Amino acid sequence: MSSTDDRLRNWIAGHRRVFALTGAGCSTASGIPDYRDDEGGWKRRPPVMIQAFRAQDVVYRRYWARAYAGWPHLAAAAPNAAHRAFAAWEAAGTLVQLVTQNVDGLHQRAGSRAVIDLHGRLDLVICLSCGDQTSRDNVQEAMAAANPRWRTEAATAPDGDADVEAAVIESFAAPRCERCGGLLKPDVVFFGENVPRDRYERAREALAGADALLVAGSSLMVYSGFRFARMAHEAGLPIAIVNRGRTRGDDLAGLKVELDVGSTLAAAVHRESHL
Ligand SMILES: [Zn+2]
Repeated sequence: MSSTDDRLRNWIAGHRRVFALTGAGCSTASGIPDYRDDEGGWKRRPPVMIQAFRAQDVVYRRYWARAYAGWPHLAAAAPNAAHRAFAAWEAAGTLVQLVTQNVDGLHQRAGSRAVIDLHGRLDLVICLSCGDQTSRDNVQEAMAAANPRWRTEAATAPDGDADVEAAVIESFAAPRCERCGGLLKPDVVFFGENVPRDRYERAREALAGADALLVAGSSLMVYSGFRFARMAHEAGLPIAIVNRGRTRGDDLAGLKVELDVGSTLAAAVHRESHL
């Protein structure tokens, strides 16, 4: 047991109402790659902007072609040690709210209940015109039916995306709302969009009732996550960060652990639950 693990274990044992914020680093061990490298820079092409998604047919079609190719891999992803550690911590009673920037639903599948999906969920799809909601599985089936001969060898990419040749994308029939023919969008916050107000308020209220903030697997480069670290700091709450690599909140944290999220949290939470 290293001193770092002891410090995190003691930190967890020392707080009774922890608010946790998780990011992509919690899901990488489940085979869902991160967007950013250890310095917080883009590893690859940044994700699609909402304005282009709405306005440009080619962007819309490219998004759905890549998403169609990437979905089987994402749907097959299973929770890992990090997700299980948070579920066990919540069950032990001292983790009161989990807010995740991830859109994969893996925290819930591991058994976490008090979860706010800050950036939404990929397994739900909404119509931008009539607001109708449908499951991603339904849209996947519709796309398969509309593209019977469409095949691609797709490399795995963030958020269920995949690299698909431009020429292949041109031949892809993108999905439309079955009710009104409108554009469909996964129920996730795209770049250029804000987190829905009520969702943000629920998270903010939970943080106001917490006695500490733990950040796990997030570089906090996206403001919607970083602002919780800043609010916690301004409220005088202790902050711990478990993340491989630099984060935007490093200066605010009393404890920074630069180790693998899953094994580190599993060790710390397991010992806490046996105190
Ligand atoms: Zn519609």
